[in-house]
Amino acid sequence: MRGRMEQLEKLKRIAQGKDELEEALNRALDIIEACDDIESIGKARISVLGKKGIIARVFKKIKDAPEDERPILGQFGNLLKRVAEEELDLKEKWLKAALQEKKLSEMAIDVTLPGRGRSLGRRHILSITISEITSIFISLGYRVVYGPEVELDYYNFEALNTPAYHPARSLQDTFYLKRKDPIKDSREDVLLRTHTSPVQVRVMESTKPPLYVISPGKAYRRDEIDATHSAVFHQVEGFAVDRHISMGDLKGTLEAFAKKLFGEERKVRFRPHFFPFTEPSAEVDVSCFACDTAGCSLCKGVGWLEIMGCGMIDPNVFSYVGYDPEEYQGFAFGMGVERIAMMKHGIDDMRLFYENDVRFLRQFHI
Ligand SMILES: [Zn+2]
Repeated sequence: MRGRMEQLEKLKRIAQGKDELEEALNRALDIIEACDDIESIGKARISVLGKKGIIARVFKKIKDAPEDERPILGQFGNLLKRVAEEELDLKEKWLKAALQEKKLSEMAIDVTLPGRGRSLGRRHILSITISEITSIFISLGYRVVYGPEVELDYYNFEALNTPAYHPARSLQDTFYLKRKDPIKDSREDVLLRTHTSPVQVRVMESTKPPLYVISPGKAYRRDEIDATHSAVFHQVEGFAVDRHISMGDLKGTLEAFAKKLFGEERKVRFRPHFFPFTEPSAEVDVSCFACDTAGCSLCKGVGWLEIMGCGMIDPNVFSYVGYDPEEYQGFAFGMGVERIAMMKHGIDDMRLFYENDVRFLRQFHI
């Protein structure tokens, strides 16, 4: 087949000087040229190649035309038909390809768009606080030991110098799982530990000094839940048992700890207090972050914030685990993790720790 341009030139030559043919050719070419989608191609086929179309009208003229013009009309009609068909096919193919390309480009992934964010989980602020506390003690030579949360009365109370009749042992505060006569024999009662201190007894019972142990974990009390109380809370218990341990060792250790956790500029003080399993006992305060002992609303005018309880382990406790109090001395301390985290981060409601509100939890990513 001859080339498109050549055929077109031939058509033009045939039509030259013949107004009707020139008009037919130009109209046909204009209609094809104007096609811009698949639908218009279909319409163009009808108006150019259809029964009443431009080419059909050319053929119609043949029978009324003078004898010598008939072959020219026939030749023109046939050639225009071939050219129009070819042009329409080509145009249709081209439009289809363009449409396909458009669809593909719409489906394509734009690699320059920012990715969909995947939010990573992070550690809970209480876990972070426990890690901070324990790692300070680990750096001081302590090792971490965990104890059971379901505990025997013996470890939770009795061996910690808190026998059944002791006033410090408030029965209504404890979740009992199995209970006998609370007055006569309570050693076998099963409960949820009310503090992490039973770990002290368990470790001392099974290990000889020297001991430098830190024990974080959950504790349970039948408290109404409010801004400063929760039925489940976290403590870190610590204790040291060795020869020649004095109150000076206790003070030095806890002062170093408090300054590491809250900042070197904090002052630390010890206030005499009472705990059944230590003697003497003390509460440890750090100078208020906001007013530095001057007194403000954060420290309720006191100038100091209490961070933990501590004391020298009562020799009676040693008698439960078979240590000789003449040979060994020790100190113990315990702190509430929630309280420490609240002070350190200015959190004023304990319930925030347990509500799992991500807006709160996301603030802490240390
Ligand atoms: Zn203050």
